[in-house]
Amino acid sequence: MAVTRSLLDRARSAMPGGVSSPVRAFGGVRGEPPFVARGSGATITDVEGRTYVDLVCSWGPLILGHAHPAVVDAVLRAARDGLSFGATCAAEVELAEAVLARFPFCDKVRFVSTGTEAVMSAVRVARGFTGRSRILKFEGCYHGHSDALLVKGGSGLATFGTPSSAGVPKEFTALTDVLPLDDEAALRAYFAERGPELAVAVIEPLPANAGLLVQRREFLALLRELTSACGALLLFDEVISGLRVAPGGMSELTGVVPDLVTLGKIVGGGMPVGAYLAREEIMGQVAPLGPVYQAGTLSGNPVAMAAGLATLRELERPGVYARLDALGAVLQREFERVLAKHEVASTIERVGSILWISMQPGPAPRAYHAIDGRAANLYAELHPRLLAHGLWAAPSYYEVAFVSLAHEEAHLRQAAEALDRSLSELGR
Ligand SMILES: *Cc1c(COP(=O)(O)O)cnc(C)c1O
Repeated sequence: MAVTRSLLDRARSAMPGGVSSPVRAFGGVRGEPPFVARGSGATITDVEGRTYVDLVCSWGPLILGHAHPAVVDAVLRAARDGLSFGATCAAEVELAEAVLARFPFCDKVRFVSTGTEAVMSAVRVARGFTGRSRILKFEGCYHGHSDALLVKGGSGLATFGTPSSAGVPKEFTALTDVLPLDDEAALRAYFAERGPELAVAVIEPLPANAGLLVQRREFLALLRELTSACGALLLFDEVISGLRVAPGGMSELTGVVPDLVTLGKIVGGGMPVGAYLAREEIMGQVAPLGPVYQAGTLSGNPVAMAAGLATLRELERPGVYARLDALGAVLQREFERVLAKHEVASTIERVGSILWISMQPGPAPRAYHAIDGRAANLYAELHPRLLAHGLWAAPSYYEVAFVSLAHEEAHLRQAAEALDRSLSELGR
């Protein structure tokens, strides 16, 4: 562990918390974060030479697994021709067409470099298009770290959003309203009062950043109906679910069609890419065509575009989504067997290759306030043991697990074995 110890010391003295993104610091679990040396397929290996089955998959992008040959080849080929031009490249056009083919209700797409930028920009476009100021989000949904969206909000109906980060003036979030998920009555009351002022309702149609809070289709359909009725737009933030649960994400799975979609994670195949897309009249607002300004020095970067395109091409192979679902089902079955054996009150929530263990009695929660936070304590105890038994699980109870096409049943049985041994060690 000497290499890890020394890197950790240096990391912590050079970077806040030793990380470039907070959850990587393992603040929500016991133990210290390993440093990753490399990844291959379904596994990653740390600097001490220990190999783990990876169920984090870089928090979602790696739907093909680590270092997929087609993606790596595409990146190397693109890199040899130059890393960035600040001009449009052919791969960008191809990726735009490949994305739009999956979201038939959208006519145009703009590439950016992160999911944060995608949602921030899409909200700006929605405000520009409607000429309205107010936005609505839902408790427990994460949309990146732009000021206006860094709001969890209080409880109760239509409370003004209060910032959930220092450094965000409350005036900046005064136009952000927050509602609970899964609550039609709250939705109706809100729209009756504020609908005419609303520019856009933003939602993860499959909320996957606070556990996996699978919504009833009726709730999403009502949100669609109410936004349309008052002239507001509906934005599906599909940064996690898009390209993963189905080629066209949750709009394809549910048949509920939003006005705007944001993508990230998978669309860059492991490189930094985000995107927002919508129909012609909305995207016509974006500069240089319209008055809504949005730009990026590295947007549409040729190497990142090549990685995204190679990933989408692999996802066009027949049977790919059925395979992801089948692998997810294997992991669910294996985990359920282990959790039952140890009599852990729990429910597994899963949509295709996204899975979350709700470690509380009764049905899995559908709203943030229904998550029993005490389960995070058990998870905090469990996590270092999972790592020790070779399972790279998310270092937070609230984060989901991802299965990739590189996972085989043997990897998933290994993951369940790690859970089994860890629970035994805890005397559960
Ligand atoms: C990850 C995520 C984002 C932010 O994307 P970044 O690339 O981390 O900026 C936004 N929305 C959702 C739903 C996400 O899961």
